[in-house]
Amino acid sequence: MIKDILADAGRLDSLIEASGNIVITAHIHPDGDAAGSTIALLHYLVEKRHRNVRILYPEPLPSTISFISEYTDSEMILDGTTMPERCAEAVKNADLIFCLDCNSFSRTGCLENLMRGSDAPKVLIDHHLNPDSEAFTFVVSTPEVSSACELLYNLLMSMKDIGGDALKLPSVSADALMTGMTTDTNNFANSVYPSTFAMASGLLAAGVDRDAILGRLFNEYRENRLRMMGALLYENMKITPWGVAYMVVDEELASRFGIMEGETEGFVNMPLAIGCVKMSLFLKIDGDGFFRVSVRSKKGYSSNKCASRYFHGGGHENASGGRLFFPQDISSRSLAGQYIEEVTAALFKEEGYYEE
Ligand code: 5GP
Ligand code: MN
Repeated sequence: MIKDILADAGRLDSLIEASGNIVITAHIHPDGDAAGSTIALLHYLVEKRHRNVRILYPEPLPSTISFISEYTDSEMILDGTTMPERCAEAVKNADLIFCLDCNSFSRTGCLENLMRGSDAPKVLIDHHLNPDSEAFTFVVSTPEVSSACELLYNLLMSMKDIGGDALKLPSVSADALMTGMTTDTNNFANSVYPSTFAMASGLLAAGVDRDAILGRLFNEYRENRLRMMGALLYENMKITPWGVAYMVVDEELASRFGIMEGETEGFVNMPLAIGCVKMSLFLKIDGDGFFRVSVRSKKGYSSNKCASRYFHGGGHENASGGRLFFPQDISSRSLAGQYIEEVTAALFKEEGYYEE
């Protein structure tokens, strides 16, 4: 791993050296890891390498994690949905493109065609399963790390100008890397490796204020989020006899609590606290005739198989996502629960998960 990372960092160094205008992108519905890794890379490229850099997000950062970009010049961050011309201009001028925390341009929403159409060298830095390696000039893809932030931390630490000294990372980058790793591991609850603690240790020693980050991440929600969490657990969550828990948030429920983008993050994890629950699904209605689906599972039960077989998605082995379309997948949105029960019963049977 160390040897590979050194070679990868060397290659990355040459690509950066040969570029003046750099574009960074990440997956649709950017989360803490997508935001943390892109902001960390931007500050490294601007402060240490003096490059002209733009981040292009398919959508704005939700208010729950927008603090990650509070020290970044807003001119450097472009939103694909509201600034298509400026995004097109940035990609046209780019001589290097980074895609972070995202295994394929098909996951970059409205930016997909722009990214695919560019002749610039393209670098993938990601930790999801099944990277679309064909679409990239250079691929750094390691599923055995907690987060894109952890992967990027190791790459940056191996760059010549950082030389393994986390104190040489721009402080905004160090904070952003810690933040993204913390959200993707659900604060050290999942996907934690020895390298994850090594990263946390390195960043703490370099002065990152983890308490402040935890405060921003977990103690600044609106009351509505907790009220909705209570209502969901009390009256919405269903548990099947084979150990699948699910919650379905439709328009009525979302508007009853005035829930905003990003405010249901993490709800999918809660049912896994119950002993008999092996897999948890969280569905939330989206404007355009589909539910966004989150899947989480305990070890030995594959969220990835569930999301890729039945919800047009994918992700990690125990944390995946996808979509459920109506009327294509289910004739009416009220049939979401029934669909979940049918497909998870089939999955559990096929994979031998079901203990009688
Ligand atoms: P979340 O449930 O937090 O939205 O997503 C969990 C994981 O699954 C994330 O790593 C995310 O990138 C991935 N994921 C979410 N939705 C999709 C999707 O539609 N397709 C694929 N391939 N991955 C997804
Ligand atoms: Mn991630």
